[in-house]
Amino acid sequence: MKDRARASKRESEAANQAAASWRAFPARQQPDWPDPYALRAVTEDLAAAPPLVFAAECDQLRRRMAAVARGEAILLQGGDCAETFERTTADAIRGKLQTLLQMAVVLTHATALPVVKVGRMAGQYAKPRSSAVEERAGVVLPSYRGDAVNGLEFTEGARVPDPRRLRTMYDASARTLNLVRALTTGGFADLRQVHAWNEGFVAASGAGERYEQLADEIGRSLGFMRACGVDTRELATAEFFVGHEGLLLDYESALTRTEPDTGRAYATSGHFLWIGERTRDLDGAHVEYFSRVANPIAVKLGPTASPDTVVSLLDRLDPDREPGRLTFVVRAGAERVRDLLPTLVEKANAEGAQVAWVSDPMHGNTTTAPSGHKTRRFDTVLDEVRGFVEVHQELGTHPGGIHVELTGDDVTECVGGGNAVLEEDLPHRYETACDPRLNHTQSLDLAFLLAEMYRG
Ligand code: PEP
Ligand code: MN
Repeated sequence: MKDRARASKRESEAANQAAASWRAFPARQQPDWPDPYALRAVTEDLAAAPPLVFAAECDQLRRRMAAVARGEAILLQGGDCAETFERTTADAIRGKLQTLLQMAVVLTHATALPVVKVGRMAGQYAKPRSSAVEERAGVVLPSYRGDAVNGLEFTEGARVPDPRRLRTMYDASARTLNLVRALTTGGFADLRQVHAWNEGFVAASGAGERYEQLADEIGRSLGFMRACGVDTRELATAEFFVGHEGLLLDYESALTRTEPDTGRAYATSGHFLWIGERTRDLDGAHVEYFSRVANPIAVKLGPTASPDTVVSLLDRLDPDREPGRLTFVVRAGAERVRDLLPTLVEKANAEGAQVAWVSDPMHGNTTTAPSGHKTRRFDTVLDEVRGFVEVHQELGTHPGGIHVELTGDDVTECVGGGNAVLEEDLPHRYETACDPRLNHTQSLDLAFLLAEMYRG
C-alpha cells in the first residue's frame, strides 16, 4: 500500500474507534432524543463541519498542562456553569475574558509562574442533572439539560430535547471562539492594556482598587523594561484555550477528527474537555470515549472518590503516565478536602503519575438560601481553595490551580466577598441558567486571596 493510503486507512480507523467504541458502553446523562432521524441528520452534518480547534493547539495545551503537573505553571479555568445561546453576546464574552485576564495577571505577579488560561467557554452548553425531572408548584417537567438539549423555560414544549440544538451549539461555540481568538490576538489582551481590563467594572471596590495599584506597578515595570531596550511587543497577544464538560457523546464523537501524520484522534469541539462527577464510572461510555482521544483531559473528583478511583482512572486514561495528559479537578467540598485530598495525591504519586491537581471550590459547596435560590458562600469557596493549597504545601506537591464558575457581570448569585452580596440581594441579579457564579468583584477577590496563599 502507498504511504498516503496507509496513513489514510490508519486515520479513519482511529477516528472510527473514537467515534464508535463508546456505544458499546452504558452512557449516563444522555438525553432521550425523541427523533433518531433528526439526530442522525445533525451528527452527519457536524461530522462534515470544520473542527472548532486544531490538534496542534491541543498538543500545545498538553505541553502547558505538563508544566502545571511539574509545578512550573498554574491553571486558571473559569466561565459560566452553563452558557446559553442567548448570551453569546460580545459584552458577555468580553466580560468573562477580561475577568480571566485580570485574575491571571494577579496570579502571575504573585507567583512569578506562567498562568495557563482556559475559558469554560465556547462549548459549555450541556448539563448533567441529579434529577431527571423538576417540580414547580405541583407541575413536574423534565429537567433543563443545557441549551444543547432543551430550553430553560419551564414549559412542556421547551423541555423536549431537540437534536437540532447540537447544530446551534456548534454555531454558538464557533462565534464565541471567533471573538475570543480576535480579542486575545488582536490587541485587547496586550499586557500593555492591563489598566483597560478594569474599565467598566466596579473600580470602587476593594479588589478593583487593589487591581489598579497592581496595574500601575506593572505599567512602571514595562516602562522600565522598554527604557532598558527590551522589546515588549511579545506581550501583545495572550495564549487562551477553551474547554467544556464532554457530556454529549453524540456531539463529541461527531466532531472527532484524526491527524493524518500521527493517526491520533482528537476531540475538536474544544481544547480541554473534562469528564464530570456523574459520568466518570470506569465501565461507562465517557471514560471509554476519552481514553481514545489525544487531547489533554480532566476528570472531576467529588467526595466519594477513593484512592482506587484514582488508580483506575489513571490506568484507563493515562496508562503511559504522561504529564499533561490528565488533570484531576477536586471538588470535595470545604469540609472534606483536607481529609480526602492527601489520600488521593499520595496514591497517584505512588503510581508514578504526574497529573495536574486543580481545585474546583464551587461544586462541593452549593446550598439553598431561604429565598430558594441555589447559592454558594464566598468564604466557603475560599476555605476549600485554602484546604487544597494547604494539603499540597504539606505534601510538598504542587497546587496546580483553580476551576471556577464566574462571569464578568455584576450578578448576585454567590453570597459574600469584599463587596458583600447578602442573602437578601440574591433576587436582584440572579441570572445563571444553572449554578451560581462568582461575579467580577468576587472573582478578583478570589484571585488576590489565592495569590496570597501561593506566596505562603
Ligand atoms: C459543573 O462543572 O458544572 C458540574 C456539573 O460539575 P460536577 O461534574 O463536578 O458536579
Ligand atoms: Mn456547575
